[in-house]
Amino acid sequence: MSSARKPDWLKMRPPSGREFTDIRETLRDRNLHTVCEEANCPNLGECWSGGAGTGDGEGGTATFMLMGDRCSRACNFCDVETGGMEPLDPDEPENVAEAVAEIGLDYVVLTSVDRDDLPDQGAGHFAETIREIKARHPGILVEVLIPDFQGEEQLVRKIIDAEPDVIAHNVETVERLQYPVRDRRAGYEQSLSVLEQVDRESDIYTKTSIMLGHGEYDHEVYRTLADCRERGVDIVTLGQYLRPSRDHLEVQRYDHPDKYETWRRVAEEELGFLYCASGPMVRSSYKAGELFVDAVLR
Ligand code: SF4
Ligand code: SF4
Repeated sequence: MSSARKPDWLKMRPPSGREFTDIRETLRDRNLHTVCEEANCPNLGECWSGGAGTGDGEGGTATFMLMGDRCSRACNFCDVETGGMEPLDPDEPENVAEAVAEIGLDYVVLTSVDRDDLPDQGAGHFAETIREIKARHPGILVEVLIPDFQGEEQLVRKIIDAEPDVIAHNVETVERLQYPVRDRRAGYEQSLSVLEQVDRESDIYTKTSIMLGHGEYDHEVYRTLADCRERGVDIVTLGQYLRPSRDHLEVQRYDHPDKYETWRRVAEEELGFLYCASGPMVRSSYKAGELFVDAVLR
């Protein structure tokens, strides 16, 4: 079923409440960007609300986007603009750290565009942001969703050395569909190697995400989950691909929520992931703080 009609279970809940408006104001004041807003994420209401700053992981989760809003790559599922790269903002690490402390988040997710144009591909800037946050807010849990750094181990090591609590890197889709889904510079084996390196060189939890809806077969999804587990990945999320515009890849299929529940059971009970967040609306950072604390720390 190509370009299938969007089913009812994908309807969004509009964001509201005091946490939502407080967080938005703090971000505006500091000129910071979140994936939550930029990508018009359907989970914004859920992720940002929930008593931020309670210290029990049930505070809001927000995903900050570092290093600009333009990417050096062009993945065919992603709405971020390509090219026209700007210099890094040297104040960004400090600004993000101050915003996180002000909002009172218990769990923060940092991600970035890919910066193949920079000598260290932005690894140093990313690491500095982690350190600034940890220095100002020692109890906070920091999850980072990192680029593949073209598989350069010394760049991945910069992130490991900054000691975030979770390092995520997304394989995005099954091996057969890596291209056309991802930019040609990305790749299945390269992404698995990044995750394997983190597992080999540290005790940091590792995480990955898979989008469904690009025309993958069940046996390929199973193989991808198994490959990730074999390379030491602890946490996985599965969610429905939604087409950002007519210039992006068509949705090949919408799976029913029951199917996602089946994948959750397979991932957790059969393959041994610490937890699997799986559902049509789930994104990599979906309620990341709450789920991490429930599954890993409690
Ligand atoms: Fe989007 Fe990431 Fe691909 Fe850049 S590398 S186009 S931000 S998915
Ligand atoms: Fe933000 Fe991620 Fe939650 Fe979406 S799923 S609202 S991007 S934290």
